[in-house]
Amino acid sequence: MVHLVLHFTVPLLVVLAFYRSTWWYSWLVLVSTMLVDMDHLLAEPIYDPSRCSIGFHPLHTAIPIAVYVLLFALPLIMSHQRPEFSKKPLVRTLHLIGLGLLIHMVLDWIDCVL
Ligand SMILES: [Zn+2]
Repeated sequence: MVHLVLHFTVPLLVVLAFYRSTWWYSWLVLVSTMLVDMDHLLAEPIYDPSRCSIGFHPLHTAIPIAVYVLLFALPLIMSHQRPEFSKKPLVRTLHLIGLGLLIHMVLDWIDCVL
């Protein structure tokens, strides 16, 4: 239960700290990345509280996580070189999707080590 609450509150704290001017939209995008847990539907049983998601479910493995890092980082790098790039809604949204997925993976990983 605490884990689920963290999936809502950590993104909220992040958007209030770093995306305050667009916090509502940014929070919605971050929270929507919980859809990544749809890959649990491929597992049997679908939910197992003792199972570590990281490295088990397909969208919680290394290659997808590398894609999430690129989604997060590439818009930042490209916007640094061309500032007008950061104003494009698609670029901002892809960056937020990457961020949301990375926050999700970190929270799931913390659940594995505790
Ligand atoms: Zn997950």
